Amino acid sequence: MARIIVVTSGKGGVGKTTSTANLGMALAKRGRSVAVIDADFGLRNLDLLLGLENRIVYTALEVLAGECRLEQALVKDKRQSRLVLLPAAQTRMKDAITAEQMKQLVGMLGDKKYDYILIDSPAGIEQGFQNAIAPAKEALVVTTPEISAVRDADRIVGLLEANGIRNAHLIINRIKPAMVAQDKMMSVRDVQEILAIPLIGVIPDDEKVIVSTNRGEPLVLASEPSQQSLAGQALQNIVRRLEGEKVPFLDLTPPPDHFFSRLRRLFQPSE
Ligand code: ADP
Ligand code: MG
Repeated sequence: MARIIVVTSGKGGVGKTTSTANLGMALAKRGRSVAVIDADFGLRNLDLLLGLENRIVYTALEVLAGECRLEQALVKDKRQSRLVLLPAAQTRMKDAITAEQMKQLVGMLGDKKYDYILIDSPAGIEQGFQNAIAPAKEALVVTTPEISAVRDADRIVGLLEANGIRNAHLIINRIKPAMVAQDKMMSVRDVQEILAIPLIGVIPDDEKVIVSTNRGEPLVLASEPSQQSLAGQALQNIVRRLEGEKVPFLDLTPPPDHFFSRLRRLFQPSE
């Protein structure tokens, strides 16, 4: 049975699409078959982050309208053939589809063909969000350590519960350890205490994320040591935890001078 997971947040710009692209890619690298769905029909950009924008011919809307078959709309990743993208239409209204139609799309993808179906949610709590969560059985709630984002995430946690999604995990993105150490940023524990759902990942703020976004190459693809990043490692660790492995979290209270060496050690749990 496919695990159907919505990646959501409330607030925009906190890293949902970055997480979806990287988790999808990392799962495919592990040998899982993965479909990622862009449920952000007003502002699609999952295709860009995956570098697949030029390969889109049809979108979910044409599938629903019966203008093409599902297989014609699915874009196979050029690097990982186990990863496919179901794109959203760009030009139409963001409320172009209904929750029932989103369920229908996920139903068409089928339960047997994919190990994971990841749904990239739009910001907000309106129709687009309702659509994104409708077919999901699990959720990854993404927030940055800022009070506005955490408050929106809190709202989302409540709405997920109200919609019967009890399996929700927290991803804290763009943490700046030096700022946390100086008490200028909420810590992982602060955020966790407010949201009170289990933590599955802490991703540091990392400029390599922006470079990878611009290149359409998810960070988790980096194979050269020079290209590797802490954010990429953190994303890989989330995938390992999703798959049931126990992987330690970043320690965010080290003395600043030793911070990076301790961080690196923590990413290598076998040591
Ligand atoms: P959302 O889908 O929630 O709107 P995105 O994934 O599109 O958010 O990310 C918004 C912006 O933040 C992008 O420009 C992205 O490159 C940047 N970003 C996301 N995560 C990080 C990070 N850990 N470090 C640095 N920049 C990041
Ligand atoms: Mg997005």
